[in-house]
Order: sequence, then structure tokens, then C-alpha cells
Amino acid sequence: MKPKILTGIRPTGTLHIGHYLGMLRQTAALQDDFEVFLMIADVQALTDHFLEPQRVREAVLEVALGAFSCGIDPTKTTLFIQSLVPEIAELTVFFGNLVTVSRLEQNPTVKTEIAQKRELFGKSVTYGFLGYPLSQAADITVFDAALVPVGADQLPMIEQTREIVRKFNRLYGETLIEPEARVVDAARVRGLDGAVKMGKSLGNAVALDDSSAVVSAKVMSAVTDPLKLRLHDAGHPEVCTVFAYHELFNADNLETVAAECRAGTRGCVACKRELSAHLDAFLEPVRVRRAQLEPAATMRALLDGTQWARRVARSTMARVKRAMKLDYELEPA
Ligand code: ATP
Ligand code: MG
Repeated sequence: MKPKILTGIRPTGTLHIGHYLGMLRQTAALQDDFEVFLMIADVQALTDHFLEPQRVREAVLEVALGAFSCGIDPTKTTLFIQSLVPEIAELTVFFGNLVTVSRLEQNPTVKTEIAQKRELFGKSVTYGFLGYPLSQAADITVFDAALVPVGADQLPMIEQTREIVRKFNRLYGETLIEPEARVVDAARVRGLDGAVKMGKSLGNAVALDDSSAVVSAKVMSAVTDPLKLRLHDAGHPEVCTVFAYHELFNADNLETVAAECRAGTRGCVACKRELSAHLDAFLEPVRVRRAQLEPAATMRALLDGTQWARRVARSTMARVKRAMKLDYELEPA
């Protein structure tokens, strides 16, 4: 049996090149050696998008199309919808007894995110958002995942999961697997506006299904070195967002790009055209695969994955309930 991995994407918008480079590419590479569970985290998305259920609903299929077009193979990976696995919610409730409120409030990831969402939450955060580390611990443990690929900023979440598992096993007997984090070594893809992160909802992203024309219009609008005003001004690649993209998509010509920019022999417009061409070549195979995906068949693959995920989750919950003395048999009504 292959070791299990759990990873997830929140259905909050259309996937972009950051998701491909920061997550989907690595996940696709693990499919042969691990049993991968890739969760479309709609329940988690609602913890900070509870005002926009329609957006979350529409993004579910979007995420599935994006994942399959980036090489996630439904015959190898279990892609599934979180809300259709109610065992996760059930386990989340049980985990609620194993964590204090102050421990949740001190979780560095949660703390940072609450600060970022002040506008949504006002003075007091919701119970659901504060508690999402519990839900994440349930996502991981209900599938017996041994490994969780994460960005370094997510390490406190995995540490919290490990604490919960140790406490559960101490109280109720060895039942759950204590997962390990596997830090994904991937650069954060910056936004076209220079923001540290390209984001689904920030209006600064190149989407996986953008056409050539859209890609080139977006690249033309990207920020560059603010001190390079005229074509022949000397530029500073180290501060330029377009250069950061050349690093990702035009690595073979990087030294030429940097040298010409510094010497003032390369204008920003030409530099952006060159980048657009490389980005376009990078996205073309993704677009081709996506064009072959039918929404109805994609949805079916997603629901098949969900059936399997649910079976695995049910069997873990049978173990959990035995351990917690909750293993009643209910006569069918
Ligand atoms: P949200 O704003 O709803 O949280 P998101 O764009 O952060 O959306 P997630 O679903 O939270 O997307 O993240 C899915 C995965 O994609 C995570 O592993 C995350 O690190 C990765 N990811 C998202 N944006 C980028 C980016 N700009 N560069 C690299 N990786 C990214
Ligand atoms: Mg996120």
C-alpha cells in the first residue's frame, strides 16, 4: 500500500499560474508513489466566504477543470468535494474537546489570517474561522494521511494537527496516524501588480485558461522597475516584477535579459512581449488539455473520487467511534 497524502485547494475563484507552480505540479509528480487525496475545500472556503455561497459553488467545477488540465490524473488521484464527506465535520466536532480556545488564538497562521480579514470579521472572529485548524486536522486524519505537502507558512497548522492526534491517541488509544509536513519548495508567484502573492481574488493573476490575447494584455499592464522610465534608462531587474516572471518562464535566457535591462538596451515593452510569448508557450498544453475536458465528465470524475474518499473516511470513523465508545448500531428506520 502506498502512503497517503492529503492536500487541498479552496474553491474561491479561477486557478492561476501560482497554483500550477506552487502546488499542482508538485502534486501531479507525487501521484505514482503516493495515494493522493486532493480535496476541494468548499467547507473551508465558506469560513471566510460565507457571504458568497454561489461563488464557492461555481468555483468547485473550475478547480476540478484546472486540476485535471495541470496533470492531476483521476485514475491515480482522488479528487473530491469536502462537503460531501460529512465524516470530516463529525471528526471536527470530536476534536473540539482536545483543543483550548487560547491555543487556537495563538496559532500563528490563524492569527495572521484573522488580522488580514479584519474587514470581514470586525472586532470578533467567527467560531468557524477560529476553529478551522480543527477542521484541517480532521481533513488530514480522516484519510490516514501520513504526509501533508505545505508551504512553510502552514507549518503551525500541521503542528496543531499532530498535537491533536497525540492527545486523541493518549486518551482513547492508538487510533489516528500522526502526519508529517513535507515543505514544498516552490517560489510564491508574485502578482502582476507586484504584490507578494498572485491571488485568486486580487485581480493580479494570470488564470490557467487565459487566452493568448488576455495573457499579453495582462503582461503589458504588469508593473516594472519604477526608476526605468524611458527605453534606454538602465533598469534594475532585482526589483522588477516582469523580471521575476522571466526567472520562472524564461530561465534559459535570464542572464541576457538581466544584462540588457541593466545596460539600457532593452525596453520594457519588448521585454514584456518576450515574456508573454514564453508564458503563452507554458500555458498552451494546459489549454489544450482543458479544451478536451467536458464539464459533465469532469463532474462525474469528481463525484467518483468523492465516493472513494467517503468510503475511506467512513472506515476511519468506525475506528474513531469504537475508540470513543460511540459505536452504537442504529436499526434502519
Ligand atoms: P484563497 O485566497 O482563497 O486562500 P489561494 O489562491 O491562496 O486562495 P488556496 O486554495 O488557499 O489558494 O491555495 C492552494 C494552494 O496553492 C496552496 O498550496 C498555495 O500555497 C498555492 N498557491 C496559491 N497562490 C499561490 C502563488 N501565488 N504562488 C505559489 N503558490 C500559490
Ligand atoms: Mg490561501
